[in-house]
Amino acid sequence: MQKKKFDFHVHSDFSSDSETPLENMVTAAIEAGITDLAITDHVDYDYDLTADITSWEIDEAVYDEAILNFKDRYQKAIKLYKGIEFGVQPHLAERMSAFIDRNQFDFVIASQHTVDRIDLYNGAYFNQYTALESIRHYYEMYDKCAKMTDAYSVLGHLDLYLRYRKDLKSVSVLQFMDIIDSIFDHVIYQGKGIEINAGGHKYKLGDNNPSIDILKRYREKGGEIITLGSDAHTPNYLGLMHDENIAMLDGLGFKYICTFEKMKPIFHSLKEFK
Ligand SMILES: [Zn+2]
Ligand SMILES: [Zn+2]
Repeated sequence: MQKKKFDFHVHSDFSSDSETPLENMVTAAIEAGITDLAITDHVDYDYDLTADITSWEIDEAVYDEAILNFKDRYQKAIKLYKGIEFGVQPHLAERMSAFIDRNQFDFVIASQHTVDRIDLYNGAYFNQYTALESIRHYYEMYDKCAKMTDAYSVLGHLDLYLRYRKDLKSVSVLQFMDIIDSIFDHVIYQGKGIEINAGGHKYKLGDNNPSIDILKRYREKGGEIITLGSDAHTPNYLGLMHDENIAMLDGLGFKYICTFEKMKPIFHSLKEFK
């Protein structure tokens, strides 16, 4: 039997920041030995737009049809899951819940890309605060978003800000653990999870998002639901750090890695990957 290999965070040209056709992502994933693939294109409402990107929304019917079509066409080679990466902001609770309700997703990543309605990507967010304040406020807002709705499966790239402000890596995350604990208490109690997003390696952080300190804390709190994703926008990053991250989780004392089907976690013992 083929060895299991998961990628639960992948973009295609349904996302405004990817040019890879969905079918190319699927066939490349098959070539890369991936057995379970969740397509998680972006939906970000009420977002800072630019001349290049004029919308972060998708045509829901076309997206649905494309994924179901490829799921069927390639079913002998790969298990395909219909996912979404939804950009969370506190004022979007109702729109998010309605969006998730009317679409039949297997898997939803709730990702905070924006704080105070400012895109983290361009750095302007950090100009209004000291370094410590900006990080604390970032986690406080994520905490709010994690609690505003239960219409998600996992929280995405928990320490995303590090991608755009590498210098903040020198600020120990331990001083924000009170808020991170509050997030984890909620997530664990609600049967939600977090993802390990290998995209941090693509950004040369030398770690995933979130970093190992945060993963250790999740383990201490009893967190068990974790998905693995590359955040690939192009085929070359599919399955990024998969085997290394399985070994890392094993070393930290985790027992399982999860896939999601119809919003329900499926637990796979780490022993199955040895
Ligand atoms: Zn993201
Ligand atoms: Zn993403």
